[in-house]
Amino acid sequence: MILPIVTYGDPILRKKCNNVKEITENIIILINDMFDTLKNTGGVGLSANQVNIPLNIFIVNYEYNDDFISKVFINPNIIEYSDDKQISKEGCLSFPSLYDDVSRSSSIKIEYQDIDFNNKVDHYSGDIARIIQHEYDHLKGVLFIDKINPLKRKIISSKLKSILKKKIHTNYLIK
Ligand code: ZN
Repeated sequence: MILPIVTYGDPILRKKCNNVKEITENIIILINDMFDTLKNTGGVGLSANQVNIPLNIFIVNYEYNDDFISKVFINPNIIEYSDDKQISKEGCLSFPSLYDDVSRSSSIKIEYQDIDFNNKVDHYSGDIARIIQHEYDHLKGVLFIDKINPLKRKIISSKLKSILKKKIHTNYLIK
């Protein structure tokens, strides 16, 4: 099932998410729905709080040349960030049509639980490491606009306001 994605201005995007205690049927349904939702948008990553569920779960679905990943990360913890960083354009499903340069570590080491609740530790680099850092931040209530340099943030402030306005409009329609 495709779920609605919350946009900038919704307080859940600033919430720290809670750990998953066990894999229940509802958790499996949520993860499947998150994959349906992500594939429907054509995005590369989605966190549970972006679909209004404050749990420590994110998914990544990305394919480019030899890089391929389609995976869920439950209760993730990034335990190493490389000192080496790269700047690249980033977007977010909660910020429609907003893209800007963000500096991220080139590689990371992450521990997490998989869909069977087994403990895993993996290394990632390049675009996949970037996507994982972006989604991991979501679970801490951190958004990619927080990482944009302050001068540029000023430039994008009108775009942010227009996203907020659309949100108010949507709420009004639901009422
Ligand atoms: Zn995002």
